[in-house]
Amino acid sequence: MPDDILELADRLWRGEITSSEYHPVAHRRGLAEVRDGVAFLPSFGNVSAFATEDGLVLVDTGSSFVAAAVHDELRRWSGQRLNTAVYSHGHIDHTSGMPVWEAESAERGWPAPVVVAHEALPRRFDRYLLTTGYNEVINQRQFGARGLRWPTEYRYPDSTYSGELRLDVGGAAFRLRHEKGETDDHTVTWLAGRKVLCCGDLFIWASPNAGNPQKVQRYPREWAGALRRMAGLGAEYLLPGHGLPVVGADRIRQALGDTAEFLEALVDQTLEVMNRGGRLDDAIHSVRPPVGLEARPYLRPVYDEPEFIVRNIWRLYGGWWDGNPATLKPAPERALAAARAAQGHVGRARRLVLDPAAAARREAVLRVPVQSTSLGPALAAAAALVKTAEDEAKTVTEQLDEPEREAMRQAFGEGATGKGVAKAMRGMAGAMKDLEDRQKSRATRVKRDTLDGALLDLAAYYRDVLMVQLGVDIELANADHVADLRKLADRLLEATSPLAIRAQPRWRRSARPSP
Ligand SMILES: [Zn+2]
Repeated sequence: MPDDILELADRLWRGEITSSEYHPVAHRRGLAEVRDGVAFLPSFGNVSAFATEDGLVLVDTGSSFVAAAVHDELRRWSGQRLNTAVYSHGHIDHTSGMPVWEAESAERGWPAPVVVAHEALPRRFDRYLLTTGYNEVINQRQFGARGLRWPTEYRYPDSTYSGELRLDVGGAAFRLRHEKGETDDHTVTWLAGRKVLCCGDLFIWASPNAGNPQKVQRYPREWAGALRRMAGLGAEYLLPGHGLPVVGADRIRQALGDTAEFLEALVDQTLEVMNRGGRLDDAIHSVRPPVGLEARPYLRPVYDEPEFIVRNIWRLYGGWWDGNPATLKPAPERALAAARAAQGHVGRARRLVLDPAAAARREAVLRVPVQSTSLGPALAAAAALVKTAEDEAKTVTEQLDEPEREAMRQAFGEGATGKGVAKAMRGMAGAMKDLEDRQKSRATRVKRDTLDGALLDLAAYYRDVLMVQLGVDIELANADHVADLRKLADRLLEATSPLAIRAQPRWRRSARPSP
């Protein structure tokens, strides 16, 4: 159904469907013959195929999990052997499809296909080998895929180039050009004879992935330069690494030009803040894409977003520090959480960090609101609270009581003999009684203090719940329990009478695009 994909692309361009409905990193099937001898397979990532007199040339090969489907689809379009594959860059969703083609060539006795890429690409694979665990963790998180395994084997290119390369295959002349942008190893492939341009991930039907919070450095300024160069080629078919083709010279010029302008604006504004001595915080909250551009169907922040790009620009030109003295050598997060939880009480904050029992008691207290679903559990929780206070009082007083009594005995000379000892012993009995009375009232005080602390913890907790319900954007005292806070905020809202304001918590409405 070749026309469907191009028709979809047209509707996307016109804004009749949005990039949220047709997300650029969603996996799709099918094949579009965009013009004679040129096929486009929307996948994760996209694969573009060119028929030549000496076999197929692919630009990108997709992820390993789509490789077989992509191969089958392409085989319905052409029976030619694979001659050459060009990697647009080294991300694994573009470079993991080779094994299925190589197995086929070996089986049929065809010459083995050749892989061509920019010279920086093998270093990327080397880096992936150094950071397998990290990449597994962040990609599981980013794509919500717990089972995701990061590869430990890579199909390295057979030949690499620097700068530019003219690649002649079966009468077709491909011009490969190195560009920096999303990565440092991008290859733009231009087939002037058929006016087809493969741009890799330099254009993906979304706000450029130039700020991705968990990934290595991006190069927004060089990226804009690459887009401007591509816009000047006069391409009539733009085949991106994600999203759908753009057909028509005017549309291509506009899409590439707008994306360049978008990036240039972010770079210029961020540099302006840096050069006048501003802080990262200023840049994040003041730098904006040009009015109107963010609303373009192909620049909506559905994968990355301008704020993240600003951070990336800052990291590229200025390092990681935001210029705020408080963040240069921050306390451990655990200590900051304790300080917040202690509501400014330094002694209590210190105890929460240094004394695991104190931290455990706080946890027990904070379970009370979550568990108090009706009167029964509430009473049980209250009883547990009192027991906790008694335990704490006991722990504190036991450490003090006996040493004090021992000191008293020694002061009165217990165990000594001789003149006056009996009299002293009678005096000691009175003093000891006095001491024990004081110890008893101290124990009561500690118990009350502990209960008091627990009630303060609870008050702060319910204040947090209220803040969440109202959608007020302030620092929560119990930010380390935010999931529970939200659950309780929801439950209490549902339980309130119909007269109560049915406020929709703001955290629910602000659905952030995933990076
Ligand atoms: Zn990609």
